[in-house]
Order: sequence, then C-alpha cells, then structure tokens
Amino acid sequence: MKELKFKYFPNAIKEVFTTGDTQICDCCGEETDIYYEGPFYSEEEIEVLCPKCIASGRAAEELEGQFIDDACVDEIEDEEKLEELIYKTPSYTAEQEAYWLAHCDDYCAFMGEVTWEEIQNMGIEYVLDELEEYDPEEVKEALDGESDMAGYLFKCLHCDKYRLHIEIE
Ligand SMILES: [Zn+2]
Ligand SMILES: [Zn+2]
Repeated sequence: MKELKFKYFPNAIKEVFTTGDTQICDCCGEETDIYYEGPFYSEEEIEVLCPKCIASGRAAEELEGQFIDDACVDEIEDEEKLEELIYKTPSYTAEQEAYWLAHCDDYCAFMGEVTWEEIQNMGIEYVLDELEEYDPEEVKEALDGESDMAGYLFKCLHCDKYRLHIEIE
C-alpha cells in the first residue's frame, strides 16, 4: 500500500501505527496490515482503523468521532485547518492527553517526544524561552525521558520554527 502522509503528523505511520499482522478496519471493514490504535473519541468503541479511513475523513464522519479533542488545541482562525487536524489526523499518545500547538495561524507538525539532550542536539534551545508556565531551568533538569515531565515537539509548517508542549504526569 502506498504510504500516506499526514500534514500535521509526518511520522505518523512510523510512530502510531502498528504493522506486522493483519487486522480488519472498524470503519471500511477491509483487511489492513497497517493500523492505528491510538486515541479516537467516539460513541462506539473503535479499536482498529486503517490509514486510508483516517486520511480521507471517512472514519471521523461515519463513526462520528474525532482524533483530537478540540479543547486541546491552540486556537486559530481557519476552521478548515482545525477540521483537518481533528478529523483527518491521527493523534499521538501522550501521558495524559495530546495537545496540539499552532504557529503562523496553522497547526504545527508534531515531531515526537523529546528530551532536553535531544533539544540541545538539534540546536533549538529557544523552545524553552517560550514556555509560559514553566521555569526553563526546571524543564532542563526534568526533561530526561524518565521524570514525570514529558516534552512534545512541534514544528511550524510555514516558518520552520519549533515549539514545545510540556506535560506533567
Ligand atoms: Zn479502513
Ligand atoms: Zn510559524
């Protein structure tokens, strides 16, 4: 199957889909050897979704669900972008609940969980300066991949700036 790309989650196939066996998609009923078992908020309990049903919006529409809680996203002007994010983008698994950052009036691409060491290696220490609720020094200490603090990295699709979302368990 041709690999699908999700604008707001470029590594989704690798990060939040499972491969290795075959499952039946709860939406289209077809066999799929790559499937999503991440967050999906719907009335019915949905366990397996194929990438096609997510990307096309079919899963969200037919199963009346969404992948990201619209209370857990930055606010932007463009309603269509919000719809693409919550209805057509697989979410990531956070310790508590995924939150999606925006920049340049669009949602950012989710890059993955990062530690302070990785942030330094990437040369993007500036992401700490923009955290409003956290002391950068504390974050440096705690973001070691083991403490109860987790850092989720995003990249703006327009200006390439990185942003960090912090979550405390
Ligand atoms: Zn499907
Ligand atoms: Zn930007």
